[in-house]
Amino acid sequence: MTRQREPVVPFVARPRDAGLAPWAVHAAHSRGRRRPEAPAPTRSEFQRDRDRIVHCSAFRRLVYKTQVFLNHEGDLFRTRLTHSLEVAQLARSMAHSLGLNEDLVEAIALAHDLGHTPFGHAGQDALDACMVDDGGFEHNLQSLRVVDTLEQRYPEWDGLNLCLETREGILKRCPLPLAQAWEREEPGGPGRRFVLGLQPSLEAQLTNLADEIAYNAHDVDDGVRSGLLSVAMLREVPLFERFHEETLAAHPQLADSADRRLLAEIIRRMLSAQVYDVIDATAARLAQHRPDDSEAARALPPLVGFSADMRAASAALKRFLFRALYRHPRVMANTDAGKRVITELFAIYRERDEEWPEEFRRRGARLRGLADYIAGMTDRFALREHHRLTGQRLFAD
Ligand code: MG
Repeated sequence: MTRQREPVVPFVARPRDAGLAPWAVHAAHSRGRRRPEAPAPTRSEFQRDRDRIVHCSAFRRLVYKTQVFLNHEGDLFRTRLTHSLEVAQLARSMAHSLGLNEDLVEAIALAHDLGHTPFGHAGQDALDACMVDDGGFEHNLQSLRVVDTLEQRYPEWDGLNLCLETREGILKRCPLPLAQAWEREEPGGPGRRFVLGLQPSLEAQLTNLADEIAYNAHDVDDGVRSGLLSVAMLREVPLFERFHEETLAAHPQLADSADRRLLAEIIRRMLSAQVYDVIDATAARLAQHRPDDSEAARALPPLVGFSADMRAASAALKRFLFRALYRHPRVMANTDAGKRVITELFAIYRERDEEWPEEFRRRGARLRGLADYIAGMTDRFALREHHRLTGQRLFAD
């Protein structure tokens, strides 16, 4: 039953989809929820999705999950939570300039990493290896599984019952056989676009790119903060060097490379340049193709993206981060220890049902339930469990 609310102050509310371009996803045309629900009296459907995500327990756990640096290494490093907030901020500001749906990009951004295991990609790889004979494990599929199935907050159903557009946006990748199976089970659902070979919505394309822009920038920042990278090392990256020069020309007082303001200003300029580049390059492609609506945009090649020059510059930065940061021996040592925690926890729980909650075995396949349990752990909970069950401490506190 929809509760009608009278306006509490005399003003005319802006229509929900006002200001959106024709190629945006309009909340009024949403393909809906699996369980039909009455509209919310004060919020659009995508605002409501965002709110459900912010209130779910998987979202709160992101604060204790590793992005690159483990949680206990320092209080100022990004976690999956602060990363997700940065992605949402970048995606919203680009969406606004392109006439895209800010509420939808925000919902997708805040949910995009909900399926990550503890210990970042290392944790995922270890869990995938544990599940190799039982369907594997992939964090992006798991993000959708969290919002579709694992969250238990509603009396009548599992999951958050999000709109199809949000669910589709979360699912960046999907193997075709799995998409086909989903499409049989839920025709027109999140598997559809993979079966039909369509692009994701422009909002999903944009959020995906905002993810990449956000982590490239904040990994530079965290890398320097950790002492593994330095401004001097980063100057071999053309994108960084360009804004290093620009910053020093504008602010000669920042010549001391240890000055925190120097790095902050370079990163700010790098971020702005990438954001403006995406807006301009995407606007040019939109002007060329002029899709009639969001569905027409999906049948075209990907329209959201960098210019060719910025694509190359961003790729060079990413290659540098791989070599100098993600493969750094200190990061790799943590990565290896994280993998070991996941692998050993899985092996112990697999043998001993009494050590893990029964509720995870109720949903169907036992090992999938075990993967759900482990994937949902925070870094510190996984370490505590590992210590409890093995007596070992792999990380110094
Ligand atoms: Mg991410």
